[in-house]
Amino acid sequence: MMTNYPTKELLRMTTQAYGAHAADKPIEAIAIERRAPGAQDVQIEIAYCGICHSDLHTVRGEWPGTLYPCVPGHEIVGHVSAVGGDVSKFKVGDTVGVGCLVNSCQHCASCGEGLEQYCTNGFVGTYNGPTADAPGHTLGGYSQRIVVDEKFVLKVTHPEDQLAAVAPLLCAGITTYSPLRHWKAGPGKKVGIVGIGGLGHMGVKLAHAMGAHTVAFTTSESKRQDAHALGADEVVISRDDAQMQQHAGTFDFILNTVAAPHNLDAFTNLLKRDGTMCLVGVPASPHPSPSVAGLIFGRKAIAGSLIGGIAETQEMLDFCAEHGIVSEIEMVTAQQIDEAYERMLKSDVKYRFVIDNATMSA
Ligand code: NAP
Ligand code: ZN
Repeated sequence: MMTNYPTKELLRMTTQAYGAHAADKPIEAIAIERRAPGAQDVQIEIAYCGICHSDLHTVRGEWPGTLYPCVPGHEIVGHVSAVGGDVSKFKVGDTVGVGCLVNSCQHCASCGEGLEQYCTNGFVGTYNGPTADAPGHTLGGYSQRIVVDEKFVLKVTHPEDQLAAVAPLLCAGITTYSPLRHWKAGPGKKVGIVGIGGLGHMGVKLAHAMGAHTVAFTTSESKRQDAHALGADEVVISRDDAQMQQHAGTFDFILNTVAAPHNLDAFTNLLKRDGTMCLVGVPASPHPSPSVAGLIFGRKAIAGSLIGGIAETQEMLDFCAEHGIVSEIEMVTAQQIDEAYERMLKSDVKYRFVIDNATMSA
């Protein structure tokens, strides 16, 4: 049964959040306001929120254009607490997720094809995006509650006790699932995943589940065993030239999730003729220019990919529920977010930090 809330209860709600007031300021408790749910809105009490490296890039001003106060977080899971009068897909009590997008123009060619992340008029990110709501930019999932148009809300069907480990699927999951599908990872394909962090560990699980011969590339010898357990058929220490050379010219597709500038040629050398390396990491400063000849002699491509559209995000969640796939997580309190960032910078994350949002009321 749909619960439609009377106007009396549709008041803007003060919500506890965690964020920063400037690039050089710590993450701290901030009280924010959420809009009252409009006719098409779903109000969600957030149970858990994953910590993505993009949160760190944004809140610390590593990418241009951060607006403050900045409340990051786009790996959101929780329960519906109110719905607007026109909401048809959700009801109070439903378990739901919100990823990196909360709106888009809905009428450009990309939106028409369900690729809202490539909206030509600009999608609205879950944080740091334009909105009429105070303070004029969106505030994300490091908060106890969020109000989102139902078109951008996902259904979660995993068992309830896996909810925290589902949160990272909303960004790390879809950002790896979408390019793996686009470049047709599957049986008979040799697929590399570079960087075994939040995105990369999901990439290994998903490429394996899709049936590809999956090779994990890591700079961390300590992750070798884990990478096999995640589903890698082979593990290569990318700083070891001899190990790298053994794979020269053999990959159909490589998904590179590294968040720091590095030598891309080391990986394009491993592609077959017509192979593609897709970059999803967005380092704060550029990679050294790749060798053009290395691409020409082999018709190889370096590509990019941005998260995934809403329909594909739902497809990914359903695929993961069906295959029993969740993220490997380490739970942290809201007060430990900065500490989690420092560990993430040292590649010391196994493999995604997830905030227990209940700790925000402490
Ligand atoms: P993460 O958890 O920090 O993982 C990155 C991994 O890269 C590290 O764990 C490490 O793995 C490896 N690495 C780090 N520094 C390296 C270096 N100098 N050289 C080689 N490898 C290095 O980060 P994440 O959350 O997965 O995000 C990764 C990147 O993707 C970030 O830039 C983020 O902003 C971006 N991102 C993009 C999209 C998109 O739509 N395109 C979406 C989400 C995030 P090993 O220890 O295995 O080497
Ligand atoms: Zn993210």
